[in-house]
Amino acid sequence: MIKFLDLKKITDSFAPSVTEAINRVVTSGWFLQGEETAAFEKEYAEFIGCQYAVGCGNGLDALTLIMRAYIEMGVLKPGDEVIVPANTYIASILAITENGLRPILVEPDPATCQISPKNIEAAITSSTKAVMIVHLYGRCAYSEKIKEICTSHNLKLIEDNAQAHGCLYHGRRTGSLGDAAGHSFYPGKNLGALGDAGAVTTNDPVLAVTVKSLGNYGSAKKYVFRYQGRNSRIDEIQAAVLRIKLPRLDADNLQRTRIAKRYLSEITNPAITMLPEAPEGENVYHIFTVFTPHREELQKYLADNGVQTLIHYPIPPHKQECYKNKNVFSFPVTEKIHREELSLPISPVMTEEEVSEVIRLLNEWSI
Ligand SMILES: *Cc1c(COP(=O)(O)O)cnc(C)c1O
Repeated sequence: MIKFLDLKKITDSFAPSVTEAINRVVTSGWFLQGEETAAFEKEYAEFIGCQYAVGCGNGLDALTLIMRAYIEMGVLKPGDEVIVPANTYIASILAITENGLRPILVEPDPATCQISPKNIEAAITSSTKAVMIVHLYGRCAYSEKIKEICTSHNLKLIEDNAQAHGCLYHGRRTGSLGDAAGHSFYPGKNLGALGDAGAVTTNDPVLAVTVKSLGNYGSAKKYVFRYQGRNSRIDEIQAAVLRIKLPRLDADNLQRTRIAKRYLSEITNPAITMLPEAPEGENVYHIFTVFTPHREELQKYLADNGVQTLIHYPIPPHKQECYKNKNVFSFPVTEKIHREELSLPISPVMTEEEVSEVIRLLNEWSI
């Protein structure tokens, strides 16, 4: 069977350093807020090209803590509007609503599935205070145009970089392009821990220290609580594992890109459409998407032939029960993506033969 993502094979490919790193933490007897976390935060900040990286519990917390920190800093207040792509993973939107902020969903550009600057501009009101862009599927969503819009309307620009660690925009990393970024190290992400972990990156020292305090019960100093915070920290074990995996991230992303280039040039079935290639380095192919109105049939055909695929995502956020009172809008571009998208296997440990087999099956498929 060709797996969508073979996490065991990925972890094994780092042997024995991952187990050695875990053992180092276990025998140290120090499990939180220690040397591994400090070292990972430093190394990850350097990698992203930001002054600060603050570890936290997961990607949703990273985004939630950014929003909450801006509220504590007086930059945002409950009721403010935050523009966000309608076709994102629900966590981006949860981070907004959890803080009493209003998500303003906007349609992506169908050519790239990334938030459209034109639609951002059209959605701005006097209550708009921030824009959250999402580098969805691993593809850079940032543009100078978006930056200009945010600067001219005095909006904070927040990046959801959960799917795009290592992605570039004109030589700079995503996660360093806006005012703050949330990162997820969920096991299946391009840089994945062996459990939950996340981080916030920023060049703003006040934001960095506020996020850190909020994730530590609201405290920057032991037993002194400035905020009503929460507990969201990165484990020493996860930090140690991420330190082993980070140095190989660029090479792994390059391997994903090689596979994507093969899919793009060798899948020739006219019944299947794909997004055009992004400029060099501006897509780290967290997910490789294909589109067909007969998505369910294609998924079944591939499964019957031993190829595992996933759908990102079957139901758009505005159609979810948790947002049912807000389900008054129609987002046709987003809805079409959710109806037609299928994600092919892609990972740094996939073999050339497996890629060839997926391509052969797709080219032989007819509805
Ligand atoms: C995975 C993901 C998140 C949430 O990250 P967790 O670590 O799972 O909480 C947020 N946004 C996007 C776009 C994601 O893909």
